[in-house]
Amino acid sequence: TSPLEQAAARIVEIPDYPEPGVIFRDVMPLLSDAECLRTVVTAMLEPWGGKFDVVAGIEARGFLLAGAAATLANVGLVPIRKAGKLPRPAASVTYTLEYGTAEIEIQDDIAPGTRVLLMDDVLATGGTLGAAVELVRKIGAEPIGSTVLMELTELGGRAVVGDAHDVRSLFVN
Ligand code: 5GP
Repeated sequence: TSPLEQAAARIVEIPDYPEPGVIFRDVMPLLSDAECLRTVVTAMLEPWGGKFDVVAGIEARGFLLAGAAATLANVGLVPIRKAGKLPRPAASVTYTLEYGTAEIEIQDDIAPGTRVLLMDDVLATGGTLGAAVELVRKIGAEPIGSTVLMELTELGGRAVVGDAHDVRSLFVN
C-alpha cells in the first residue's frame, strides 16, 4: 500500500456521532502518525506550489493541518475562528446550518491582495468553507483555493462553496 493509502486507512468512521444517523470521520489517528501527517500535508499542498502567500486554517482541525502546512511551505498562517474567540476587531460572516446559524471571524492581519490557501479537514455540506472563502474576500485578500483532507461528496458541499472557487480534496468518501 502507498503512503497515502496508509494515511487514509487511519481515518476512523464513528457511527452516530455527534448525533444519530451521522457518521463522523475522525482524522486524529492519521494526524498522530508522523509519516501519515507529513504525507497528507505535503500532498494537500502539492497542487498549489508558489500560488499562495499564506494559509488559512479553519477552526479547529483545520488549524492542525494549516500549522504543519505553513512550516512546510514556508508561509505564514491565519486562523478562521468561531465567533467571539479573537481578541481584536474581526470581520465576520454568518451562515446557515441545518438548525440555526453559525458565525466565523478573521482578523485583518494580512495585506489586501494576499493570496490565501484555505485548509480544513473535512468538506461536508460546504457551509463552513463557503463562509470562510467569503470571509477572506471581506478583508480584501484573495482566496485562491481550498484544500481539504476529505470530501464527503454525497453532501454536495462543493456546489455550496461555488464553482468559481477551486477546491481540491485528497480523499473522497
Ligand atoms: P460543513 O460546513 O461542510 O457541513 O462542515 C465542515 C466543518 O465541520 C469542518 O470544519 C469540519 O471540521 C467539520 N466536520 C463536519 N463533518 C465532519 C466529520 O465527519 N469529521 C470531521 N473530522 N469533521 C467534520
